[in-house]
Amino acid sequence: MTGTLYVIAAASGSGKTSLVKALLEREPDLALSVSYTSRPPRPGEVDGQHYHFVSRQVFEHMAQAGAFFEYANVHGDYKGTARSVIEPLLAQGRDVLLEIDWQGAEQVRRLWPDTLSVFILPPSRAELERRLRHRASDSPDQITRRLADSRIEIAHAREFDFIVVNDDFAQAVTDLRAIFACRRLRRDAQLQRHATLFDDLLKPD
Ligand code: 5GP
Repeated sequence: MTGTLYVIAAASGSGKTSLVKALLEREPDLALSVSYTSRPPRPGEVDGQHYHFVSRQVFEHMAQAGAFFEYANVHGDYKGTARSVIEPLLAQGRDVLLEIDWQGAEQVRRLWPDTLSVFILPPSRAELERRLRHRASDSPDQITRRLADSRIEIAHAREFDFIVVNDDFAQAVTDLRAIFACRRLRRDAQLQRHATLFDDLLKPD
């Protein structure tokens, strides 16, 4: 059985990274795809864990060689999902989570139509600004750029299958888990997962 591909997107400052962390702690079977990026690491970021950090030149070379399942220029840096990262996981039947932007989500939907996509919204514009300004890692220029980009990102929320508002964190985690449970319980997935149960239940007396 091939695994399911999940996409989660949000404007920077929506709390997506913390939500994904909480989700992965509660959903041990879900594998997070580690992206490639040409962005330099921030303090505390570990190569191979937060991203695979490569130069712009290496990224462009990989893109030309067709190494990416999807990639995009996000806030001025390249970010992409390598085929070598997700294809073996999906082939093993693992469910894979991609934390990517709306441009990547668009490419993934085209390539893998069965993808389930979720968009995270912040509770208000004021809260989004507050969260972005309190993130010590970004320069004032980066904050201005992310605030401007957030409108573009949020305008694409309507292309996603599900929308979760991250106002109350615990509620948002519950909502995300409900979406994942819903996908796992779909008839096609259940028929495959419980094939022997069906055989048993339907066998003649
Ligand atoms: P940051 O620079 O804060 O780590 O990430 C900024 C944005 O890049 C996030 O909103 C995230 O969705 C996006 N991003 C991270 N990895 C990928 C990727 O592999 N592909 C695409 N298209 N976007 C990504």
